[in-house]
Amino acid sequence: MLSAAEIERLAQEFESKSPQEIIGWAVETFWPEVALSSSFQTQSMPLLHMAARIKRGLPVFFLDTGYHFWETLMFREQIASEWQINVIDLYRDTRWDVFARQHTRSLPAEDPNLCCYLHKVQPMQKALKDLKAWITGIRRDQTSVRAHAKILELQDDGLLKINPLLNWTKADVERYMEEYNLPSHPLLEKGYRSIGCAPCTIAIGVNDDDRAGRWVGRGKTECGLHTEMFQHKDIAEVKKEFQLAVCRSERG
Ligand code: SF4
Repeated sequence: MLSAAEIERLAQEFESKSPQEIIGWAVETFWPEVALSSSFQTQSMPLLHMAARIKRGLPVFFLDTGYHFWETLMFREQIASEWQINVIDLYRDTRWDVFARQHTRSLPAEDPNLCCYLHKVQPMQKALKDLKAWITGIRRDQTSVRAHAKILELQDDGLLKINPLLNWTKADVERYMEEYNLPSHPLLEKGYRSIGCAPCTIAIGVNDDDRAGRWVGRGKTECGLHTEMFQHKDIAEVKKEFQLAVCRSERG
């Protein structure tokens, strides 16, 4: 068990390490209680490629929200098969099935925070519950929230979040993709530079910010996996909203 001071020291040290060195350390330190999460979009390819080369069988969590583009699901299948990745699909808890089915079409637009909570945050929290470390692919240059992240982040429940690509830029990703001739998500060429669920993603122009096509007009830039929502700090508010929504749906 690493102390908070050791984690702080390592986080500083890792600022000058390569992503491969950080992933190697994570696997060596925490295996088998470590997993990676990925959305299988173009910018996910370097981390998946590194992980596949460093540790065969490392679990890779994929949030199967039921709202993905079919191209994402096919791409996930292709990469998992070609690189022999141990993909584990995560689903919404079944106790919300009736509510979610009743609101399948409207929920992403009417209440995207609740929708992300049910389909992404809660399943990921459950999958990580018995693990010690979680490797993610976030980068500081992606959003203002991620700009303040650290390479090692100790969560309230003791889980260590590891962000090996935090210091990478878009150019670093492109360089790695080119060096290893990695495939791109099939929708990239149609203007989808950051891809999430279909109801919340649109194609963007060449001059737009990469994430400009996510949750357009909904005042939202993050799904909740990399915000305080994940650490339960504002979960009470989310749950209150959710209970109200369930009551509304039960009343018809
Ligand atoms: S990205 Fe959109 S569809 Fe996907 S879980 Fe979040 S709100 Fe729902």
